Amino acid sequence: MATSEGTEVAERSGENNSHGQNDGYDNKCIFCKIINKEVKSDLLYSDEELSCFRDIHPGAPHHYLVVPTKHVGNCKSLQKDHIPLVEKMVELGKTILQNNNVTDLEDIRLGFHWPPFCSVTHLHLHVLAPVSQMGFTSRLIYRPNSMWFITVDQLIQRLNLMSSDPVQ
Ligand SMILES: [Zn+2]
Ligand SMILES: [Zn+2]
Repeated sequence: MATSEGTEVAERSGENNSHGQNDGYDNKCIFCKIINKEVKSDLLYSDEELSCFRDIHPGAPHHYLVVPTKHVGNCKSLQKDHIPLVEKMVELGKTILQNNNVTDLEDIRLGFHWPPFCSVTHLHLHVLAPVSQMGFTSRLIYRPNSMWFITVDQLIQRLNLMSSDPVQ
């Protein structure tokens, strides 16, 4: 299934971001390049922890991606310790929506593509609104409880069930 990032980046395992002089920067990662301003994009927000930009193939009138500024692998690689990070990503997503005049925060969709249905390995939260204006294909690509898309609530539930010790 095609995802909306629109950039074909070869699937890589999440384990090769432990090397390198630039901690938290993966030179093969398109999102790292966007955050680093090596690639032109609509960077709406960026601080040490989180960044936000528009999805280049919007699935709704408002479609933003919230990402950790430092490279973090996809949602499958997350541990229980990442819950606060995920919650902060959600908060920023909602703030960005409000800054862009989205007032009905019930009519939004927040979630992650589940690997391998993910063209970019850099962890990214899809923030879409309003859901009521999403077309058929977008509803399919960002369908909650599907094999390929996991909502924030589902992800946090899953992380909560994990032990705090990293399991590999
Ligand atoms: Zn990255
Ligand atoms: Zn995605």
